[in-house]
Amino acid sequence: NERDLRLRKKYGINVSGNDVPSPLQSFAELSTRYGCDSYLLHNLVKLGFKEPTPIQRQAIPVLLSGRECFAKAPTGSGKTLAFVYPMLMKLKHASKDGIRAVILCHTRELATQTMRECKKMAKGSKFRIKLMTKELVRNADFAKVYCDILISTPRRLQLCISKKKKKIDLSRVEYLVLDESDKLFEHSLLEQTDSVVKACCNPSIIRSLFSATLPDFVEEVARTVMHDAVRVIVGDKNA
Ligand code: ADP
Ligand code: MG
Repeated sequence: NERDLRLRKKYGINVSGNDVPSPLQSFAELSTRYGCDSYLLHNLVKLGFKEPTPIQRQAIPVLLSGRECFAKAPTGSGKTLAFVYPMLMKLKHASKDGIRAVILCHTRELATQTMRECKKMAKGSKFRIKLMTKELVRNADFAKVYCDILISTPRRLQLCISKKKKKIDLSRVEYLVLDESDKLFEHSLLEQTDSVVKACCNPSIIRSLFSATLPDFVEEVARTVMHDAVRVIVGDKNA
């Protein structure tokens, strides 16, 4: 429709896929269109975020409509919120239903930073957000560990998957985000990333890939496992 095309043009958003949901005109639509809880709007005010960034305008509605997605947007363009907000909205309330969402990061530093951001965005809710630390890998009885959102590197998560005893159960994960996904698919991490993706075997899982570059091979690999994914690109496709 005309309005969607105009907005996308204005913000340099390129999309491909079937029935791509309308981009957000403002953060207020999170409430008027999607009925988000007020703590989320309150946290935007506290963070000082007035307008959604282009990637947030398009990726949030895509994920909220239950679609899988590939998103490419420059570094510093607000990709973290673009995947964390829909995740918080979809998970709705804290629950003790095993591990419900996973965010994979290619380095421990990025995982730590993502957890900090995530906690700020979830402030005022009861969500349990956990970072996979070395101690957790070594000591936890994963038969008893639950959390709403787990943030980890592929290496640490794979160690927990391949434990002989007390191993982690990812079969109930409803949302899986691969952040800086091009790095997760590089040779050195590919096998570990792949085993995490396979362990997240819930048939109704929603997966998404976020990165600053989207090499063709990454998209090709991902397309083989993703269902009816939407591709969202902000800026130049080949940048
Ligand atoms: P990326 O993952 O795309 O590199 P980040 O998610 O790390 O980017 O965000 C970069 C910076 O932009 C962070 O400091 C974040 O707090 C800020 N930011 C995110 N969304 C907004 C927004 N809508 N308005 C203003 N600043 C934002
Ligand atoms: Mg990022």
